[in-house]
Amino acid sequence: MTSQQPIGPLPPGATIGILGGGQLGRMLSVAASRLGLACHIYDPDPNAPAAQVAAKHVVAGYDDIAALTAFARGVDVITYEFENIPTAALDALEALRPIHPNRRALATAQDRIVEKQFLVGLGLNVAPFAPVNSLADLQAALASIGTPAILKTTRLGYDGKGQVRINATDEAEAAWAQMAGAASVLEGFVAFEREISVIAARGPDGAVTCYDPGENVHKSGILHTTTVPATLKAGQHMDAVLLAGRILNALDYIGVMGVELFVTGSGLIVNEIAPRVHNSGHWTQNACLVDQFEQHIRAIAGWKLGDGSRHANALMTNLIGDDVNIWPSTADALHLYGKAEARPGRKMGHTIRISPKS
Ligand code: AMP
Repeated sequence: MTSQQPIGPLPPGATIGILGGGQLGRMLSVAASRLGLACHIYDPDPNAPAAQVAAKHVVAGYDDIAALTAFARGVDVITYEFENIPTAALDALEALRPIHPNRRALATAQDRIVEKQFLVGLGLNVAPFAPVNSLADLQAALASIGTPAILKTTRLGYDGKGQVRINATDEAEAAWAQMAGAASVLEGFVAFEREISVIAARGPDGAVTCYDPGENVHKSGILHTTTVPATLKAGQHMDAVLLAGRILNALDYIGVMGVELFVTGSGLIVNEIAPRVHNSGHWTQNACLVDQFEQHIRAIAGWKLGDGSRHANALMTNLIGDDVNIWPSTADALHLYGKAEARPGRKMGHTIRISPKS
């Protein structure tokens, strides 16, 4: 059997392998256990939050091919909670078990330039961009794109890390120095009205379903709140959902994806895609019948997608660092990640407040 043959539905009792043991892996594992499925977590950190709620935790590095091989043999299907998995690790795993979402989705999302070229190829709008591999490239890109602009590393960026805003062309040298020689991309600054995201899911039969778009507010580059429903003009909700569906279909995608969008006066611009469950989809845990974590597990296990319809309005608030100290005093739904140390900038949990649906 090759690993890419479509899987039939995995029966209850089957085992899901999750690469990465952070909060996303933890919430996937909880959702899987509700469906009678077990999870094995692969994460080099012995204190990985997901390990507290999983059947097994393999503590090994992503360069340990023997450990990866043993991990793959112990599971029925493999998924992941982060994008930056080394290619050699994926090769070793994929030789033994299916990986969902697929390698193409991962390769597309791992590199901001590949991602933008893919989106443009689908006829979708992205911010003006140019690859930057030297100071001369950056100066040329600034001359054509203008300021303000944002210089980002093409790979390994998240939560606003690996990016610097450039307000004037004379800041080019300092900005390029901050990239430390990493392959980068310059993006024109999008004067957006608001940021939204669509959490979309696609099953092995090609069925696609999208949660209602959420409106996202960031603080210091990290998601602060998601509010649902997002404030959208007529037609924008449908535009957002349709473009997300196009992305998933084009990638022959299986699982949940987060699609981040800028809403502008002239339409929707795709910021980035995340081939996994997404922080801006946490609100689904308390405002939908089937949340994004169960939906992802259903898709990768070959089950029918669940009913993701929303029964309430929702406000999700991330608890970053010391924010977590509100735990004794909040009446909102509380989701804590089991992390011992509340470092600044660290996602410790989130709250969800629901109100009657509008
Ligand atoms: P990213 O890591 O690309 O998702 O960027 C993090 C945040 O920075 C986004 O959610 C936006 O708030 C902001 N941002 C990123 N790229 C742009 C852009 N081209 N124009 C305006 N704001 C941006």
